[in-house]
Amino acid sequence: MVLIKEQIKKIDKSIVEEVVEDELLERFKSCYQCGTCTGGCPSGRRAAIRTRDVIRQALVGLDDDLLSSDLLWLCSTCYTCYERCPRDVPTTDIIIKLRNIASHRGLMKGPHLAVSKMLIETGHGVPINDEKWSNLRKSLKLTPLPPTVHSFPEAVKEVQTIIKELKFDELIAYGEEVKKKLAEEEKKRAPERIEELEAELKQLKEEAGK
Ligand code: SF4
Ligand code: SF4
Repeated sequence: MVLIKEQIKKIDKSIVEEVVEDELLERFKSCYQCGTCTGGCPSGRRAAIRTRDVIRQALVGLDDDLLSSDLLWLCSTCYTCYERCPRDVPTTDIIIKLRNIASHRGLMKGPHLAVSKMLIETGHGVPINDEKWSNLRKSLKLTPLPPTVHSFPEAVKEVQTIIKELKFDELIAYGEEVKKKLAEEEKKRAPERIEELEAELKQLKEEAGK
């Protein structure tokens, strides 16, 4: 990433201090940009996230660009980068902290808003809503539904109480606001998504032709 003049103007060091407020994340500043994290990132093989770049953008204080981009949300929180970092930088936890900061600034991305909405309504971010998953569980000699709110639907109310206590519903502006934001994002992303799908299809065809 080349730091051009326009980007330099946007530099704001406050985000670094906000991240290291959490003493478990103090090693954030020890990153020496070796790129080992990027090299092992499974999400980076399929998507635009480059872990080293995310850490660098955050370290130099380019928070407006970083917090509003899709990059932060492409991490699957697998912790490979953290395990491999020679400087013991808690990369994954830093990404989670940056997502938290982005969420508090109203910048959570559409798919994450949708999962949050699902969590509030069903008690599961990814509920079992298809018979094939229950059948798969049965084939593994498990109960058709896990011992969660799926088996104890009355517990959904408890989940919703905790969410209210923590003000998570307010954080994502649960309700009409979320619906509006999701619809807007969907509209904005439609052409972009078609391009992504076309690129994926092309890649799959190339791989199949090899
Ligand atoms: S592996 Fe660690 S030190 Fe290397 S770039 Fe990533 S965070 Fe920085
Ligand atoms: S935790 Fe995120 S950034 Fe790190 S390797 Fe996994 S997907 Fe990549």
